[in-house]
Amino acid sequence: MSENTLVRTNDRVWDVVVVGGGAAGLSAALTLARVRRSVLVIDAGEPRNAPAAAAHGFLSRDGIAPLELLRLGREEVASYGGRVESGRVSGVRREGAHLVVTTEDGVRARARRLLVTTGLVDELPDVPGLAELWGRDVLHCPYCHGWEVRDAAVGVLATGPAAIHQALMFRQLTSDVTLFLHTGGDPTDEQWEQLAALDIDVVDGEVRALEVDDRGRPARVRLASGESVAADALVVAPRFVARAGFLAELGLAVHEHPMGMGVQLVVEPGGFTGVEGVWAAGNVTDLMASVPVAAASGVQTAAAINMDLIGADATAAVTARAGEAAQAAARNA
Ligand SMILES: Cc1cc2nc3c(=O)[nH]c(=O)nc-3n(C[C@H](O)[C@H](O)[C@H](O)COP(=O)(O)OP(=O)(O)OC[C@H]3O[C@@H](n4cnc5c(N)ncnc54)[C@H](O)[C@@H]3O)c2cc1C
Repeated sequence: MSENTLVRTNDRVWDVVVVGGGAAGLSAALTLARVRRSVLVIDAGEPRNAPAAAAHGFLSRDGIAPLELLRLGREEVASYGGRVESGRVSGVRREGAHLVVTTEDGVRARARRLLVTTGLVDELPDVPGLAELWGRDVLHCPYCHGWEVRDAAVGVLATGPAAIHQALMFRQLTSDVTLFLHTGGDPTDEQWEQLAALDIDVVDGEVRALEVDDRGRPARVRLASGESVAADALVVAPRFVARAGFLAELGLAVHEHPMGMGVQLVVEPGGFTGVEGVWAAGNVTDLMASVPVAAASGVQTAAAINMDLIGADATAAVTARAGEAAQAAARNA
């Protein structure tokens, strides 16, 4: 944030400060700005799907570059008077009736309500060659990028029970699926039967590396035994870790996902975190949310926050009116 912004944000009390300007945060900000709430979005500019060339499955925007989608979103928010600033929030504390957000570069912004939409970090299996190709030829979601690898040779790297499910899902898209058991443990008898019936090859032993060809595209999955298997793409199951460390001072912490997929904030329907004035939406509360699901949860949570503010404003108006009436009565006495 600029120095000028620092002065302005320190002085001002925003109706809502949104931490995180991805699909969830910008959708929330758009909703709030359109009902004339003052809204500031502080965004570190690293949406989770940034490594991918395209975002798929968002009706009417299918195939758009992830950063272009957010650029358009920021423009829309700004067109209704919402403010979007770059910065990384490092802490939040309560000061009287307000929540005060601090960024890494020392900027403070004061808010009546806080919305956390910081997404998550994908912790990838520790196999050389994966990280470099993450979001392009190393994938996790068939709905996001399955179509792009249809009929290709797809490997599935097992690091836990989700791998069998992933192998069955990608089998919908290609007949050439190889499941690498790696550290994922043995399938059950029923799963062995399913894998065999669907002609999914199963390779035992640890994977040592994903090797690329001279164009930098995946070529072979190399095993610790020295053997290798051809693959055009590799499916993995990252551990999904919600970005919520900066909320510690408010007493908010992440919890284990019920299916062991990672950790997330737990919220009530509507996004309330249980901590007064603090709400959350998108991947930070729902590890499985895609772009449209995260956007929808941002809209829903924005409406819930607005409802809360409407109640607070109405109560304040009643109190102010009663105070004026009492003053008038005192003057006339
Ligand atoms: C490789 C890959 C490809 C994907 N492809 C698709 C796809 O094709 N279609 C689809 O529907 N979904 C796709 N997804 C899922 C998609 O990325 C998520 O659904 C979506 O990004 C969730 O939106 P969000 O707003 O919750 O979080 P994000 O989009 O991750 O946005 C969070 C924002 O908060 C910011 N932030 C984090 N911490 C702070 C902080 N402390 N202070 C300030 N800002 C902060 C981040 O920098 C980021 O800009 C993909 C995911 C991955 C990993």
